[in-house]
Formats: sequence, C-alpha cells, structure tokens
Amino acid sequence: MNRAGTQHARMPELITQLPDLERDVSLALTSTFRDAGEELFLVGGVVRDLLLGRPRADLDFATSALPERTRELGNRAGAASVFDVGAAFGTIGLVFHRGDAELTVEITTYRSEVYPTRDRRPAVQHGVSLHDDLSRRDFTINAIALDATTGELIDPFGGIADLHRKLIQAVGNPAERFDEDPLRILRAARFAAQLDFEIAPATLRAMQQTAPELERISVERVTAELNRLLIAPAVERGLRVLDEGGLFPYILPELVPMVTDDRDGGAARHKDIWEHTIQVVRQAPPRLTVRWAALLHDAAKPWTRSVDEHGAVHFFGHEPAGAALARKLLKRLKQDKDLQRRVSLMVAMHLRPSSYDPDWTDSAVRRLALEAGDTFEDLVDLGAADVTSARAHRRRAAARRIEGLREHFARLEAQQALDKLQSPLDGNELMTMFDRPPGRWIAEIKDRLRELVIDGELDPDDKETAAKLARAWMTAAGDPV
Ligand code: ATP
Ligand code: MG
Repeated sequence: MNRAGTQHARMPELITQLPDLERDVSLALTSTFRDAGEELFLVGGVVRDLLLGRPRADLDFATSALPERTRELGNRAGAASVFDVGAAFGTIGLVFHRGDAELTVEITTYRSEVYPTRDRRPAVQHGVSLHDDLSRRDFTINAIALDATTGELIDPFGGIADLHRKLIQAVGNPAERFDEDPLRILRAARFAAQLDFEIAPATLRAMQQTAPELERISVERVTAELNRLLIAPAVERGLRVLDEGGLFPYILPELVPMVTDDRDGGAARHKDIWEHTIQVVRQAPPRLTVRWAALLHDAAKPWTRSVDEHGAVHFFGHEPAGAALARKLLKRLKQDKDLQRRVSLMVAMHLRPSSYDPDWTDSAVRRLALEAGDTFEDLVDLGAADVTSARAHRRRAAARRIEGLREHFARLEAQQALDKLQSPLDGNELMTMFDRPPGRWIAEIKDRLRELVIDGELDPDDKETAAKLARAWMTAAGDPV
C-alpha cells in the first residue's frame, strides 16, 4: 500500500509500552488475522497515545475482515466471548481472560462513510481499504494505523508529523469534514485541551465557519465533550479554542455576554471577567464539579453590573443570579442532577470562603460548613482558585484566609472526633453497677476508661469489657464489690 503521500515508519518497540495482557492480545489477534489472509491494525486513540508515550487501556482495531469472519477469527485467537457492539457499523467486541484479568477490545471492519448532502445520516460502506478507513477519521493524529506484530505504522495524512508539531488538523477538507459531523468541531477543542495542542489555522477557520452547525448535534454529545474538555490538563487552551472558534453562541449561549468583549464600547470590561474566569478554571483542581463552578461563578456579572456615584463598579447579587443561571444551563445540558445541585450551590456561595478571617467563631465556621453540606471541600477549593489578583501581596493574603478556614474547620472536625471518644459507661451506669452514691470515684473510673478509648485499646461501645475493668479497679482499690 505504497500510495503517494503515505508515510511508513517501523517502531516495533511501541507495542511493548502496552501492559502485558493488552500486548499479548494484540499480538495474538494480529497474527491470527494475518494467517487467515486478513489485515488487522491498531487504530485511533491507542496509536496516538502510544506515539505520545501516554499509557491507556482501550484497544481499537480496524480489519479487512467482515464482521462474521471477525467473530470466527476472534474465537480462534482465544476470545472468551464475542458480541456485537454496533451491528450497523460492523463493530465486534471481544472479551479475553487471563487469570482474574479481563480485557475487552473492539474490532471494526474497514469502512468509509458516505454523507448524502440532504439527509445527513452517514451511510456505511464496507469492503474498502485501510486507506479509505483512515481517510474518514477526524484528525490526522487519529488517522494512524499500527501493525502490532511488525511495528509498521501507516500514516497517510502526516499524523506523526502533526504529533511532533503538536497540531490538530482535520483529515482532508476541514469545512467538509466538520459539516459531515459538527461534533468534530468540539472534539478538536477537547483534544487541544487534553493534549495541549494547537489547532491548525485552516482547521480553526473551518471551525469558525461551521460553528452554527453545532446546533444539529444532540445535547448529550455536546455535554460529554465539554465535560472532558473541562477536566483536561490544558483546559485554558480548550476554553480559548471555544472562544476563538466562535463556538459559545451555539453551545453555551448563556456565557456569551461574559466572553464577548466591548459590549458597551469597552467600558464594561467584560473581557476582564472572562480572563479572570479562565484563570480560576485553570487554578481549580481538575474535578468536574469544581471546574464547572469555576466556569460559571461570575457568569451573571454582566447582568448585575452597576456603577456608583464614585465611579466604582459593583456586581451586587451576582452570586444568586449566577446560581440560577448555572442551574438552568446545566439542566439544559442534561447534566446529572447532583452536578446541577452542587454547582449552583457553590456558585451561590462562592464568595463565602474568602470572607473568612481568624476572628470567626467556631459556630460561624460550622454554619458555613452546614450550608455548604457535601460541597464544602469543593467550595473551599473554588475559593482558593478564585484568587487572581495581579498583586502578589493580595494573592498571599487571600490564600492565607482560605488556608485559615481549612485549618479552622479541620480543628473543629478533630475536636468533634475527640468528643465522640467517651467512656463506654456513664455515671448512672456505674452507680447502678456498684450500688454506690455519686462521688469522685465515678470521674476516676470514667477518666481511666476514656484514656483507654483514646489510646485505641477499648472500643467506646464495649460496655462488657469496660465493666470488667471497672470491677477489677474497684477491687484493687480495696473496695470489693
Ligand atoms: P479517546 O478515547 O481518548 O477519547 P479516541 O481517539 O480513541 O480518544 P474515540 O472517540 O474513542 O476517540 O474514537 C476512536 C477513533 O475513531 C478516533 O481516534 C478517530 O479516529 C475516530 N473517530 C471518533 N469519532 C469520530 C468522529 N466524530 N469523526 C471521525 N472520526 C472519529
Ligand atoms: Mg477511544
């Protein structure tokens, strides 16, 4: 398959990066298919990630064999079970066992997708070549095939070079490819965020042109990509791609006022809010709840802005307004209910952690923790991320306040844990047991029992052992019962 432009390289060592089971299954499948006169290649994300030295688990193969033949050859290669993943797309799932370990891989018959212009549902064609199969894939870095046994790489679109250049580039004509499946526009942004890659200029222009087509995509697919982008390591780049690609109006229209600059001749300086937001998201730990709360925490500011007689700008009430915006937006995206609840609560409370100062009473801290409920730690993390002042002394002071709150809360928790460590027997129980009136003896026994509980030598619920010990002590004290 030495067609013009196709790059061949040989890297037998790539496959050795895979865990043992993955590697052995790949080798067994590849040689079984080859012995039967069929082609079989690792394709897509696994090849890309092996070339990047990023370990990953799921294996996808492409083959010349038709699905029935794939089932038969999969069994021959030792699969414990074989099932249909997407019969229409010719994908077969195969499960392999070794000891307790289990591995599921997918094998898809080479296909090319034909997109009739009006009815945009792709019609699948089988019986095509590996080259055809690679040419229907989204980006060059995802259109590389690897022969597991020889280490041969088939790279017709220069994907390896783009991996080196850290470039996301559509296979073929970018505008046509995005028009075929507009989800690819968002996948580009998501891969930029995961890999910290740039978007090739022609690909970015095509994203801008085709962005309105995103409205054809189901909200579930959009949400899945946004979620992956938000927890990615280079999230800042991903957000900038969404902005530069002009995607916000079609996926997150609620954020357009925040993202758009110069709504009233630049006086509103909304760009500052957006730049601040990007920084807060980047500084937030990569957990979905915290990252969504970071993205939305100031989103209502453009609506709540006011200027007082001294020319000072205020955003009164932007927290509850932001919480309402977050709730609606996340509901529209069909995010899970718990995420909706947590994020809107955090947006509502996002200024609270930074208002902490060391004079706060224990009950003030308890009240905050109670109101925040199960979001307390996320909320404090958001508060720590929401510190972006250009002035170092301000950043340090804000960080100290947040750390002060964390420590104060930790002290309360430790105190509460200690308060639970009590003598298994209380005074009434001891008086009944020894038939004696109240006196110092009760405190002495309770203290000794509590010491044992604190030392972990006595369970706070173990009344039986506690009673035996108490009897022994009373006897030893010359006071037989
Ligand atoms: P990851 O699993 O890390 O998200 P991936 O590259 O494996 O990355 P998948 O969505 O699992 O992504 O898809 C597997 C492969 O299928 C891709 O590498 C790409 O070659 C192809 N592919 C997936 N979705 C599309 C699409 N919408 N258009 C074209 N090709 C696609
Ligand atoms: Mg994948």
